[in-house]
Amino acid sequence: MITFLSGGTGTPKLLLGVQQVMDRHEISVIVNTAEDIWISGNLISPDLDTVMYLFAGILNTETWWGIRNDSYTTHEEITRLGSDEFITIGDRDRAVHIARGEMLRKGVRLTNATKNLCDRFGVRETVLPMTDSEVTTQVKTDLGLIHFQEYWVRAKGKMMIEQVVRTYHEPPVATEEVLAVIEASDAVVIGPSNPITSISPILACEGMKSAIRDKYVIAVSPFIGTTPISGPAGALMQAAGFEPSSVGTFNCYEGITDIFIQDIRDPIEMSSSVRLDTMMTDEKKSVALALEVLRLVRKC
Ligand code: GDP
Repeated sequence: MITFLSGGTGTPKLLLGVQQVMDRHEISVIVNTAEDIWISGNLISPDLDTVMYLFAGILNTETWWGIRNDSYTTHEEITRLGSDEFITIGDRDRAVHIARGEMLRKGVRLTNATKNLCDRFGVRETVLPMTDSEVTTQVKTDLGLIHFQEYWVRAKGKMMIEQVVRTYHEPPVATEEVLAVIEASDAVVIGPSNPITSISPILACEGMKSAIRDKYVIAVSPFIGTTPISGPAGALMQAAGFEPSSVGTFNCYEGITDIFIQDIRDPIEMSSSVRLDTMMTDEKKSVALALEVLRLVRKC
């Protein structure tokens, strides 16, 4: 088994390839939940949704969020009625958020709610939230501390951020299911996700780092030079005190990586990195990178 740590874009692109070259029951994914947000009474878990929809074969891979060919009737109507729904939620996507919210309100753990949803979608891979308690990534801006989604979706990232702060009522703890899949894995792969908003929240869950430390850990950089391939990772790395680059990413992972993969185009030299083509611009390239990662795992 291989366990992947994932956000909602870069690592899912790798998983798109992985699911075609591995037995699907041998794939486990621990997913970031620090970008989750309650909207219009329901719980959006953007990264869990993306990974689940990917494995269910219904993900909109143009945007890497939401369900392909979804409709937006409820969003249009609720907005017309004056609701401040700043995320464009599809109708089928919303049904998932309603079902999730209902299960949590009844006291179901997020881990079990996720399993129920994955079973309904016929997902054969193991998809686990990093923790069962609520954690939120906030950013400090001129408006004060705001939810990451307010910064990235509502303000389209067009704001200076000074600091990244993770808030919670109780410190997040890695679930027993998370620790069990890591224990059962031949390797842990940190996909090319945002180091600050996707990977750090997973690594910060109590029990995570010590579980991973003895494992063979491969990480893929989401940067080429000082620019991420997409998204706000550059600004977030700087706000969190890291260089926005592969070097900063490596440092952010605090020495837990055994193999660090940098893109062949990255002009920044790192003495011990493995160079691969990590630009997953189509499915074939996702499969090619997945095969290279599996080759490295077999060599471990
Ligand atoms: P989020 O939850 O939507 O922010 O998604 P992730 O954290 O999973 O992924 C965001 C990161 O993926 C960004 O920092 C991008 O630079 C990186 N990324 C996106 N596509 C690719 C790709 O094809 N190759 C690599 N190496 N990184 C990518």
